[in-house]
Parts: sequence; C-alpha cells; structure tokens
Amino acid sequence: MQEEHFDIVVIGGGHNGTTIAAYLSKCGLSVCIVEARPECGGGQENTEVRPGFRIDPHATYLYGGAAPGFEQLELWRYGFRQVYYPSMAGLVTLDGKAANLGGRFSPGLAEQSLAALGVEGGIAGGFLSSMDPGATKELLRALFWTPPHPPTAEVDPADMPWWQVFRKHMAPLWSERLLDMSYVDFLEEFVAWEPLRTFGAFAAWYCGAHPSWDGMALQSLGGTMLYSYSSGSPRGGMHTYAHAIIRAALAKGTRILTNAPVEEIVVHNGRAVGVRLSADAAFPEKTIWADKAVISAVDVQSTFLRLVGNRHLDHGFLQAVSDISLKGGSLWVMSVICRELPKYHGRDEWFPTEVYPSCVVAPADSMESFHAQTRDAYSFRRLPQDLSPEHLTMMICAHDMYDTTRCVEGYHVLSPIYLECPPPEYDVTGPDGYNRQKAEVTKAALDLLGEMAPNMRGDNIVDVFVNTPLDSEFRNTGMTGGNWYAARQDSDQWFSNRPLADLARYRTPIESLYMCHQTMHPGGLCLMAVPYNLMHILINDGIAQPGSWWYPSPWYMADGASHLAGHGAGL
Ligand SMILES: Cc1cc2nc3c(=O)[nH]c(=O)nc-3n(C[C@H](O)[C@H](O)[C@H](O)COP(=O)(O)OP(=O)(O)OC[C@H]3O[C@@H](n4cnc5c(N)ncnc54)[C@H](O)[C@@H]3O)c2cc1C
Repeated sequence: MQEEHFDIVVIGGGHNGTTIAAYLSKCGLSVCIVEARPECGGGQENTEVRPGFRIDPHATYLYGGAAPGFEQLELWRYGFRQVYYPSMAGLVTLDGKAANLGGRFSPGLAEQSLAALGVEGGIAGGFLSSMDPGATKELLRALFWTPPHPPTAEVDPADMPWWQVFRKHMAPLWSERLLDMSYVDFLEEFVAWEPLRTFGAFAAWYCGAHPSWDGMALQSLGGTMLYSYSSGSPRGGMHTYAHAIIRAALAKGTRILTNAPVEEIVVHNGRAVGVRLSADAAFPEKTIWADKAVISAVDVQSTFLRLVGNRHLDHGFLQAVSDISLKGGSLWVMSVICRELPKYHGRDEWFPTEVYPSCVVAPADSMESFHAQTRDAYSFRRLPQDLSPEHLTMMICAHDMYDTTRCVEGYHVLSPIYLECPPPEYDVTGPDGYNRQKAEVTKAALDLLGEMAPNMRGDNIVDVFVNTPLDSEFRNTGMTGGNWYAARQDSDQWFSNRPLADLARYRTPIESLYMCHQTMHPGGLCLMAVPYNLMHILINDGIAQPGSWWYPSPWYMADGASHLAGHGAGL
C-alpha cells in the first residue's frame, strides 16, 4: 500500500484550498494538496473556446482586492498582475439614457455622467464612492475578512464590526433603522433615480447577499463594494490569479497531487488522520497521512455525507448538513465573440472606448424587471418567463477589451452576460430544464442585446457560448448548484450561521478536520477570506505559527471571549 506523511492534507485545489496551503507552507508546515481534476484552480478557470479567445465560465472579477492575502502571500512575486478598468460599471435605459458610473480609478466620472442627465448625484452617485479607499477596505475587512465570533459571544447588532466601521465613516447616514433594512429599502430611501436603484439592486444580486432580504442592507451593499473596490481583474483572467497562488504555495514547499480524487477522510477515534484516494486516482487507493490536520476545501455536503460518512458522525449533525439549502440564485453565463462592442441605441459617444464600462446593466429603467426576475428565480423556480425588454434586464460585461491577452486583435469578447435562475435541482422544469431551453433563451438574450444596441446583430456576432448552472456543476466537481455563492443568499447564511452554527468557525465535529471552502463564511467572491479567517482558528488551536508577516483581523475574537469591547479599531 502506498503511503506518505505530511503535517497537513488539503482536499481540493480550488482557490480556497491552494490559498490555505500557501499560508500553512509559509508557516513552515509540510502540506499536500490532493485535487481531483488534472489541474488546480477550481472555479477560477479560463477556457480557450476558440484559439486566441479566452472566456471565464465562472469567476471573472477580482472581488478580493481588500484581502490581506495579497501582501501576506506576496502574490506579486508569483506573477499576479492586475488590469485596472477605466470604468467599472454603467447603465442604459429603454428610453435612451446612459450613465457611466465609474469605479475606484475613475473619480468624478459617475457624478459627471449623472449631472449630464440632470440626475442629482450625492450619495446616489456611486454611494460610498464618497468613502476613501482606506475606509472602504476597512469596511470590507470588517464584513468579510473577519472570522465569525465564538458561539459564546453576545454582540449587540449595532456593534457588529461592519456597523462600527460604517458609523465611523458614514455617520450622517447611520440610524438604528438600517439594522433591519433590506438593500432594496435602502435604495428606495437614498437613491432618487429609479434606473440607479435598478442598477444597484441588480449589481448586489450578482455580488452576494440578496437585496430583498431584511436586515442585510450592508452585506448586500458590501458585495457591490467588493466589486468596485477592485475595479479590475488579473491580467490573463482569473486563472492567472489562481496560478499566482499555486506558485506561492509551491515556492513555500507545498506538494500538489492532481488527478487524485479523495474517496475517504480517514478517521481514527474521532480524529481525522489522513485521506484515502479513490481507485481511479493517478495513485490508486494511496493513503496520505496528516499528522496535524486535514482541511477540506470541497463543499460541506460532499465533505460530511460522502468523504466522512455516517459511521463517524452524529445523526442530527448529518441531517443538518443534508438540510443545507441552496435555494438561492444561480448564474446562466453567456459569452459572445464580436467585432465591435455594443453601441447602445446606436450611439458610441455614450461609452467611448477609453471609458467603456466593464459591466453594463441594461435595460435599467424599472425596478419591476428586478422584482419579476427575483420572483421567477426564487418563487416560481424557473428561468425568466417574460423575455421582453420591459421585464428582462441583463448584466453585460466586456472586461476583455482591456486585456489584450484574452482576445485576438480586432475582436472583443463580450463576457459574461448574466441571467439569474434557480439552481438546477430546484428548477421546476427539471434539473436539465435550462439545458433543454438553451437555444430559446440564448436567442431571447441576443434579441434583447440587439434591441438595446442595434450593432449587435448579424455579422458583428461571430460566436456565442453558453454555460448554464448545470454545465457549471459538471465542469467543477465543487461548484455546488452552479452557484457563485454556494448557499441561499440570506441572513440564515450569514456570519456565525454559515453554513451551520456548529461549523461557522471552520472547526468540525471531527477533531483535526477543518473546513475551507466557499460554502463557509463569507462564501464565494470574497477571495482568500475563508483561508485568512481559518488561519486565526488554526493559530488558536496551536497548528500554525506564522512569522511576523501575519496580522490578524482587528475584529477577531479568540475562543472564550464574550463581548467585543476593546476589539476592532477602537471605535
Ligand atoms: C457563474 C459563476 C460566476 C462566478 N463569478 C465569480 C467572479 O466573478 N469572481 C470570483 O471571485 N468568483 C466568482 N465565482 C465564484 C468562484 O468561482 C468560487 O467562489 C470559487 O471557485 C470557490 O473556490 P473553492 O476553492 O471554495 O471551490 P472550487 O473552486 O469549487 O474548488 C474545489 C476544488 O475541489 C476539487 N474537488 C472536489 N471534490 C474533490 C475530491 N473528492 N477530491 C479531491 N478534489 C476534489 C474540485 O475539482 C475543485 O478543484 C463565480 C462562480 C460561478 C459559478
């Protein structure tokens, strides 16, 4: 029987698995990643759909700009390079208005563009664009790069880290009422122009906590801030970000085994001691022993229901894991190779190439389309039913134009174009329902594009690729529900509840087994947040002893702490 010993075994080489491996190798531990697929990177995949044209079937934008991991792991030394977008976002309406809403690296653009339309900007003109980048980073770290509190801690909701930071920087906006608000309520109250509200609601829906859920206004807004704070993507696509992390891990001594699906987490006397590879692995049935810890960087249901199994777990816990619901939105992703970028309503002066927004919400006239699409995805559990321009709004992204490594000269990759739908297992037309409707929905989406931008018809469109949520599941064994968030988007899946209160601090009922996957808090999109948060726990448990390069979250509460006083930024 083949065997090997390491301090740590990490199951899954997606970005969460490779990041925790890089952190722990930097601490001097011997680490082995075992990855099922032929290559690491998980959802940070780029696919060359035609020679010279690279699209992102899943991760596109770098939502992790505020992550301490960039400096702690020194990713720039391992090839990470960011492309900054001159404008992150814009909107277009059916009645012929267009606003360029800028981003972190285009100060004043939103205000200028809205003033030209006679729309009062103020807070509405990009909300917290009035917050400086340092304050935004502080707020994002308080929201996402902070481990959930110990279960014993009782913290007044108004004193949660994010609300403390918000009060510090946005005092005139603060009131206790915000605690119960949904983001849609927040938009109604603070944004006068409906297209801007529609833009805000769609942007939040595609970035994390759902805009309609009560008490989640700041979490929802935080998702959009993740996106605007980075204001760009890695040169070469998200897979090059994954490569930088993989190189950082390798440089510190991590061993990586690919084509190595784990069949079982080996448990002796309630303690995880290693993993056994499957019979079809490149090293069949090999056992890799973990002297200090096994870290599962695959989804929570696979980890417990399949890899640990019911012999070692309490029935109640297994039931709670089986009950974790994915009833949130999932993403239908379309990519279009074209010769020209969309000229909305035929006018290219709206978004000239030098300030073309990476992501356009169109048509953004009315919140009705947001509510109609939400209703279809969450209540009726089906694809958008009314595909007419009045009721269908799309996010149309053109990030590739700033990155010449993604596309053959003279062409553009308009990608991703997103539609929200339920995860496949909840689709009322059956799990393969979307795949049967692929041609019909693609045609409707292209018709809408042509309606908004007349040049997006005929010869301008060279090719179209569609990746449904079901396709996403097949591409990546860890891509639960084809979902970028990997759970429901609501307060039950937030902070110390995610994915279950017993797992919120990344420990599990099995000693020495920890979780490090996007199913944990804070979930997808907050890059490197789960590994950074888990590091606090591993340090607490005496497994990792980092050098002076490590700094914890100022909001971290160690085990046994019962209140927040004295924590945070001294607010
Ligand atoms: C449509 C879509 C759009 C998205 N857009 C963005 C975006 O713009 N920006 C962004 O940052 N994120 C985006 N995401 C989310 C992002 O892809 C995920 O958050 C991220 O991939 C999660 O990383 P992970 O390491 O937790 O899991 P994964 O990336 O799923 O990695 C898990 C890994 O574990 C491996 N594995 C599974 N089972 C086993 C086993 N038994 N043994 C060994 N290995 C195993 C899998 O092969 C996989 O490589 C998007 C996701 C989707 C679906």
